[in-house]
Amino acid sequence: MSATVERDLRTGRAVWLERKLPVIHTKTLTRAVSCDVLVVGAGISGAIISEALSDAGLNVVIADRRGAVQGSTVASTALLQYEIDTPLSVLSERIGRDRAERIWRRSRLAVDALRERTRALRINAEQATRDSLYLSGNVLDAAGLQAETEARRRAGFEVAFLKSAEVFEQYGITGRSAIVGRDNYMADPRLLAAGYLNAAIARGARLYAPVEVTDVEASTSGVTAATKDGPEINAKSLVFATGYEMAKRVPKKGNKIISTWVIATKPQPRKIWPTGCIIWEANDPYLYIRTTPEGHVICGGEDAEIADADERDALNEAKTATLVRKLGKLLPMIDAEADFSWSGSFGDSKTGTPTIGPVPKMPNCYSAMGYGGNGITFSMMAGQMLRGMIAGTGDPDSDLVSFTRRF
Ligand SMILES: Cc1cc2nc3c(=O)[nH]c(=O)nc-3n(C[C@H](O)[C@H](O)[C@H](O)COP(=O)(O)OP(=O)(O)OC[C@H]3O[C@@H](n4cnc5c(N)ncnc54)[C@H](O)[C@@H]3O)c2cc1C
Repeated sequence: MSATVERDLRTGRAVWLERKLPVIHTKTLTRAVSCDVLVVGAGISGAIISEALSDAGLNVVIADRRGAVQGSTVASTALLQYEIDTPLSVLSERIGRDRAERIWRRSRLAVDALRERTRALRINAEQATRDSLYLSGNVLDAAGLQAETEARRRAGFEVAFLKSAEVFEQYGITGRSAIVGRDNYMADPRLLAAGYLNAAIARGARLYAPVEVTDVEASTSGVTAATKDGPEINAKSLVFATGYEMAKRVPKKGNKIISTWVIATKPQPRKIWPTGCIIWEANDPYLYIRTTPEGHVICGGEDAEIADADERDALNEAKTATLVRKLGKLLPMIDAEADFSWSGSFGDSKTGTPTIGPVPKMPNCYSAMGYGGNGITFSMMAGQMLRGMIAGTGDPDSDLVSFTRRF
């Protein structure tokens, strides 16, 4: 029995697998070990959290049942946006304007921190800063986007509203108005995770894999993790950074697993739209689009309420064809044929916001559930917040993401 749900997280070949990862030193767990913090999961969340905790001077052990960077992170399209899936104007209605503005601002800080920290650590993850173009759709039409522009300006965000004629003139996209968001970010998610893991390991963090955590005994004096066929790991605190394989004893908090599909075209650097900005839509379901440094166009979307991997994969061919068709229609200047296609489980949250913090009824245990389209932005938010919570300084926004929040 595992401490977490087991899933077939992804299928197909993500474009990132063309790149070789740097060596990540992994140890074999042959005897019981002790540490300040055990981080379960070596994807982008575990990597960023371990880097933050080791930077705070804590002795960190990371355990992963697959190995470093083998989970959902490989499937990510890694549009690293501060703009949360749920528009600020809509989120304000659901959770109140004050809270909605605070979580949006915190998301902006997380993207800025990710950019700054990645630079400071000299990680090369083919990262780039890009504006974003948020196109009108069935969630927000032109009037809705105008109201959203005002809501964002009020909260302090630098945004511009473009009428459909301006969108056509500047980007060659017809019939859509848009909001331009500034200075979002993108990267190769595998290289990014490898860079953060290696930064933590260079500071003394130990990565053990494959090691499956099967049970967690938590008390006010510390945590003991049992492992499959292996010795125990003793820690003062434990962090579940297990992505879409939720820990069984952690409350779901309204989060659920759905499915998403992605294609990447062949490289076509000369056909990329002006600025090569990130493109996404105020639509349900929506498309999310970016480029790679070689000029592949990556397009994801077609999300469906399917948790089962076999059911998801039965739709792979049809969903790929739909993505090719929709991408070609939206961006007629590119060749939308799919050179790569893949699918993955995806964590959906009710408000597009994450759940991060102490797990109820499990003393000294924390969870980072960065569910919603901004998963990696939320990995950084979790790194910042858990550093404060575990190192003792706390976090001013912990109430917005805690398990005990009322929304
Ligand atoms: C197709 C797709 C597109 C996406 N696009 C974006 C995007 O554009 N922007 C964005 O910000 N986010 C995006 N996301 C979301 C983002 O990729 C995820 O939030 C992120 O990769 C999750 O990282 P993680 O480290 O939490 O999980 P993972 O990478 O899955 O890592 C979790 C690890 O935990 C390990 N584990 C689980 N249980 C145990 C156990 N019991 N013992 C030991 N180890 C265990 C697993 O083996 C795994 O390696 C996308 C996701 C998908 C699937």
